[in-house]
Amino acid sequence: MVSPFCISLALFALPGQEGTPVPASSPQPTVDQQVAAEAEAIRTAFAAWCASESKLKQQDSLGGRLVLWSDFSAGDARDAAKRTAGLLGRLDRPFGAPEDLAAARLQGVMLKDGERYHALCDAISEAAPAQREFMESSKNTTGFTLYSPPITVYYHDPAVQKEAKPDHSVAHSFVHLEMWRRFGALPLWLTEGLACAGEDGAWGEVWAYWYRDGFVFAKSHGDWRGKQTQSIVAELADLSALFSYPARPFEEQRALLAFAFATYGLDAEPENFAKFTGLLRTVYQESNPQGGRPALPPEAVAALLTQAFGDGFLQRLQTWWKKPPKWGAKRAA
Ligand SMILES: [Zn+2]
Repeated sequence: MVSPFCISLALFALPGQEGTPVPASSPQPTVDQQVAAEAEAIRTAFAAWCASESKLKQQDSLGGRLVLWSDFSAGDARDAAKRTAGLLGRLDRPFGAPEDLAAARLQGVMLKDGERYHALCDAISEAAPAQREFMESSKNTTGFTLYSPPITVYYHDPAVQKEAKPDHSVAHSFVHLEMWRRFGALPLWLTEGLACAGEDGAWGEVWAYWYRDGFVFAKSHGDWRGKQTQSIVAELADLSALFSYPARPFEEQRALLAFAFATYGLDAEPENFAKFTGLLRTVYQESNPQGGRPALPPEAVAALLTQAFGDGFLQRLQTWWKKPPKWGAKRAA
């Protein structure tokens, strides 16, 4: 069973292909051109839908790099946008701030009105027939993420989500979008680790677990930097368990380990972390130029890790996690 916490992912385009013009002489559009045309159609339909929904509030952050539409209270929307902006800033540290803010734009929607959510699914279906099936199934979930154009939608349905924080879910999905924008497909353990590290950094709590099947680790929301993570890191002999973690389904131990790795990379060795991520991107694209998510053998990932971080990474990770720095993030009351 797929839990309602699942945020559906549509991986139907390589990044950087949107907007490719269709040559007038070409009788049959290529797959890339069809994808680009569809992305443009979705972009237009989404803008029209947002403009037609008079109850939606728009939050622009980071000079237009981040746009959040919401039917939540203005305060909730503002807080979600502000924390997400902080989280993108944290990713800028290792990966560099984008030069062209408009080209780096990510859009998100946070909704609590079910009819409005369904109307958005229908608007996208109509604009992009290839998405029809995905949009129909998304109506029964708590949102979806499109990568081309980059749009993430969260629908808060208290009937199926007793334990969820809309702002966390939105921010978490924005990390996926941002990493996809920068790198294309990466190992899921890494992007999930980063998304959870982002939540933890922004709120001091992690809520948007992925693919949880009925079982809720309620006590651990605020304790991802705590003893359990510390002892998982301390007991590591190597990182093969992490590098072979498919992240579907969610496994608490390896999820915490992915979080620990991402947190360390972001905060302790950002330059090496960026190097590692860049190497992964290169290998991923070479091994699967058509996109998708190839599985790399753990030994291959370990070799890239050493190439990026040098020797002694595991020891440095373990030393850092013995006493991770205190952080000041707090959820607003
Ligand atoms: Zn995720």
